[in-house]
Amino acid sequence: MRHLPYFCRGEVVKGFGRGSKELGIPTANFSEQVVESFPSDISTGIYYGWACVGNGDVHKMVLSVGRNPFYKNIKKSVETHIIHAFKDDFYGEILSIVIIGYIRPEKNFSSLEALILAIQEDIEEAKRQLDLPEHLKLKEDNFFHLPEGKTNLG
Ligand code: ADP
Ligand code: MG
Repeated sequence: MRHLPYFCRGEVVKGFGRGSKELGIPTANFSEQVVESFPSDISTGIYYGWACVGNGDVHKMVLSVGRNPFYKNIKKSVETHIIHAFKDDFYGEILSIVIIGYIRPEKNFSSLEALILAIQEDIEEAKRQLDLPEHLKLKEDNFFHLPEGKTNLG
């Protein structure tokens, strides 16, 4: 797929309260500024890659590129679920990601259970893919090593 791997970073903002966290799958939403800088022809759907909050550790992630219901689906939303248990929320922090591969297109689910099951399968697929040597090496990319004290866009 074109554009991949795709590196980007930006601020984590409040989402539209779809209750992802209540489902056990919180998704860190990128600010509008980041979303607008995204390639306009990137396919909507679910992706896998690596993510890091501030100067923290790099973790596996699954990402959804979708239509933002808050803007009547005109604008995209880009949401990252980091496969790691964080002690606290990190709204306002800088999230750095590299999007590596595509898992599947967006889908409508007949039930909440079906949705959760699909996301759990996405997470398992992401974990498997990211263990491959060619994907593991992006975890060590210099992109994730911000200069000391620098947590802002640059
Ligand atoms: P919102 O609608 O505001 O995006 P969510 O229910 O999707 O709310 O929760 C997302 C927030 O949860 C993130 O912005 C972040 O601060 C926090 N969070 C905690 N753990 C994670 C994680 N593993 N992955 C993503 N976000 C997480
Ligand atoms: Mg969210």
